Amino acid sequence: MRLIFLGPPGAGKGTQAKRLTDKYSIPQLSTGDMLRAAVSDGSEIGKRAKEVMDAGGLVSDDIVNQIVSERIEQPDCAKGFILDGYPRTVPQAKALADNMRQKNLVLDAVIELRVDEEALVRRIESRVAETVAAGGTVRSDDNPESFRKRLSEYREKTAPLSQYYEQQGELVLLDGMADVDAVTAAIEAVLEKDGDTGASAARI
Ligand code: ADP
Repeated sequence: MRLIFLGPPGAGKGTQAKRLTDKYSIPQLSTGDMLRAAVSDGSEIGKRAKEVMDAGGLVSDDIVNQIVSERIEQPDCAKGFILDGYPRTVPQAKALADNMRQKNLVLDAVIELRVDEEALVRRIESRVAETVAAGGTVRSDDNPESFRKRLSEYREKTAPLSQYYEQQGELVLLDGMADVDAVTAAIEAVLEKDGDTGASAARI
């Protein structure tokens, strides 16, 4: 199963992707996590990405396309994968399509979680508070200024992907404001092509 999750920062992509990972035994590929790992390793890519990430901007398409292309060749992706945070621009989506075609891989679904922006700000604030309470390290881009920038980057560069995938007939829109379990049930209903059941309450 090969899936893409679309949605603004804080929409719940990571939470839902983790649940699907357990259920379908396929990895969650978060480009944000991969880039943060590159930053903490001090690799060349990490050095180039850090400043842009901290400011809430987008890392160059070439870098992320390369990272994902290499990652999906790993043995743990043989049965599929969930892309979380990639593609984030139309050129990235086109690069991914070319890449998958070359590798003879087919996309099963693109799932977009729609949420309102007020809720996003609150979710990010509570993510920060929970991390602090658990004694963890807050992400260097989880501050109000970078978050606003991440949202505006989303609106400008990532939101157009909805239309792109809609035109390809691949987009499924779900209500990311529904509670976490309802969203999971709706996603599973979509994946099991069982969209007419009550489990699809979160479907828009
Ligand atoms: P969130 O969705 O919560 O903003 P992520 O963990 O997905 O956070 O991404 C964090 C940062 O990593 C982004 O703000 C951006 O700088 C960089 N990044 C992640 N994925 C991509 C991508 N596909 N293209 C460009 N930059 C990316």
